[in-house]
Amino acid sequence: MAGEVGPSGPGYPGTWAEFRAWFPDEEACAGYVERLRWSGGIACRACGERRGWRTARGRWWICSGCAVKTSVTAGTIFDRTRTPLETWFAAAWWVTSQKHGLSALGLQRALGLGSYQTAWMMLHRFRAAMVRPGRELLGGTVEVDETYVGGEEPRVHGRETATKSIVAIAVELREPKGFGRVRLARVPDVSAASLVGFVREHVQPSAAVHTDGWRSYLTLPDHGYAHERTVMSASGDPAHVAMSGVHRVASLLKRWLLGTHQGGVSPQHLDAYLGEFTFRFNRRTSRKRGLLFYRLLEHAVATPPMTYKQTIRPDRKHLHCA
Ligand SMILES: [Zn+2]
Repeated sequence: MAGEVGPSGPGYPGTWAEFRAWFPDEEACAGYVERLRWSGGIACRACGERRGWRTARGRWWICSGCAVKTSVTAGTIFDRTRTPLETWFAAAWWVTSQKHGLSALGLQRALGLGSYQTAWMMLHRFRAAMVRPGRELLGGTVEVDETYVGGEEPRVHGRETATKSIVAIAVELREPKGFGRVRLARVPDVSAASLVGFVREHVQPSAAVHTDGWRSYLTLPDHGYAHERTVMSASGDPAHVAMSGVHRVASLLKRWLLGTHQGGVSPQHLDAYLGEFTFRFNRRTSRKRGLLFYRLLEHAVATPPMTYKQTIRPDRKHLHCA
């Protein structure tokens, strides 16, 4: 079957036509989920038998030794939903093939879904999957700053309080110019505990960290960082020149929230959007859209499903972004 060979694992389709050929039905999608999760082949958890068969719709694997059933989708974002895997896969393709992503309404239209809630639920689970724990720390020269997001949303969310959130941003600088990877996270305030805490969580201790003159960053050298401060009034440069990386990322983030999501991002969901922005930004130079699809599914099968309550009000465990 035409397509690209994956970094490891089952490979992936490179075009929409290939996508259709790879995933013609529910069983093909379930088989792909199975190969992503069990690269060495599925084995029965009761007796270790490797031979078995899948139910017609593909979500269950039945051991031919002892007939114990194993759910192919349990523990993934696809679990506990009546939405067919075909719909999930098509959604993943749309989410990754659109350069800036799309809103729930956009996804509902693209897939011809009857329900807005289904589109919204899928997007939220995909965002959770984009937030991957255990990611590498940034290194080299890293700019760090904070920006304020939200607060001017229209009446999309009804009675929700329109308060601004503080988002800490870290951007790797490349020589002679350009940016590497980013990390973003919501912080409760601009204290040293919050901001230095953010740096320590996302940046290697050996890195050179470039900040403005804000005093909360003064303790960075105590944690092994080479701290370079640019006091804006002293440098004479406008902020967007002196700290070009973080200002560029902040303006891209705000434009993306406004353009793709109409700015209607409530503080409680902001972390998920930061995760999506980071996922996209850090893969912005990849010309292979199919590879993004593959990465998203790879994360999706390793991410447990959120309950409805977690989706509505994410708890602290979900607050970090990729
Ligand atoms: Zn068995």
